[in-house]
Amino acid sequence: MHFETRCVHVGVSKDETYNSVTTPIYPTSTFAWDGIGKTRGYDYTRSGNPTRRALEENLISLEGGIDCRATCTGMSAINAVMHLFQPGDHIIAGHDIYGGTYRLFDSVFSNAGLKFSFVDMGDMENIRKAVTPQTKCIWIETPSNPLLNLVDIAGCVEIAKSTGAITIADNTFMSPYFQRPLELGVDIVVHSMTKYLNGHSDVVAGCIISKHKEHAERVGYIVNALGLACSPFDAWLVLRGVKTLGPRMEAHQRGAMALATFLSKHPKVEKVYYPGLPDHPHYALAKSQMTGFGAMLSFDVRGGRELAEQVMTKSKLFSMAESLGGVESLIEHPDTMSHVSMDLPARRAGGITEKTLRVSVGIEHPDDLIADMQFALETA
Ligand SMILES: *Cc1c(COP(=O)(O)O)cnc(C)c1O
Repeated sequence: MHFETRCVHVGVSKDETYNSVTTPIYPTSTFAWDGIGKTRGYDYTRSGNPTRRALEENLISLEGGIDCRATCTGMSAINAVMHLFQPGDHIIAGHDIYGGTYRLFDSVFSNAGLKFSFVDMGDMENIRKAVTPQTKCIWIETPSNPLLNLVDIAGCVEIAKSTGAITIADNTFMSPYFQRPLELGVDIVVHSMTKYLNGHSDVVAGCIISKHKEHAERVGYIVNALGLACSPFDAWLVLRGVKTLGPRMEAHQRGAMALATFLSKHPKVEKVYYPGLPDHPHYALAKSQMTGFGAMLSFDVRGGRELAEQVMTKSKLFSMAESLGGVESLIEHPDTMSHVSMDLPARRAGGITEKTLRVSVGIEHPDDLIADMQFALETA
């Protein structure tokens, strides 16, 4: 079956009692046993729930793994996979990974004895140089946030294989519709389902999709032991959202491409960061490892922080807000909003300036988005 068909059908219709077309919500903490050792597959909702399992089966199919655990946030998914490692283990990650992930690695797992190297993963040589005999994982997040730099997924897999490390990819920005890291050799994929998988800005959730039995079993154990699973209600919402993932991603991308092209020609815009523009430094890599370019883009206005702020406040269709991946367009100022958890030198080193704006392009008509952005730029 094709991707879009699997989005709609996998895991979904199992109600034999009434034949409901959608998955029922099972809001129960516990399940009655038929006798000693005899359950109907579930005993306690922290450990397993039929609504959550329907979503997990769907996601296994979309990413091409063997198992999935749906968690209560994206951060809880990342927290869970980091428990695969022991004190002394070394992990290589990009210097421009998601701020919350950086914070979790740098100020929680570092205290627990894990060692991290944060490098510019745009150059594979930096990754090779960072490898030590203790390196157990290469953490991949591509494209990066907010400047949309790409990391060569297959290249990371090759380095990891040659040193006995595993690769874990945060695939939040592309969704499995545009990028499937497991097919490129990655061992584990994590998502913030808060973003494109759910797609409607009305839930926070995450997931972990494993490709190997040993990781699947350990991750399942950890998610249950730490109590990280998402609620049946949240699972149901994401399951509803994910059914339209394909058409939504197409609509998101159509708007992003149109807006990026418009911005790249506007006199008040200095620079546009979007991997779908042929002058993006990683355009060739984008075409080879993704089947689309997504709908996140950033741009530098020709002016300072004041102009950036005016553009945000004058636009009407782009809400000034953090987060991404919902049907409604959002605009934000990384230097004072999404990336304040990075210190100033780190922000500047990563290329974030006070004139940088980040946009999550929704599924509105591209002409309306362009007209609104044109108004904002011209009146700012
Ligand atoms: C939002 C996000 C996360 C964290 O997810 P939450 O659902 O907010 O906990 C992790 N990685 C990336 C790339 C994100 O965009």
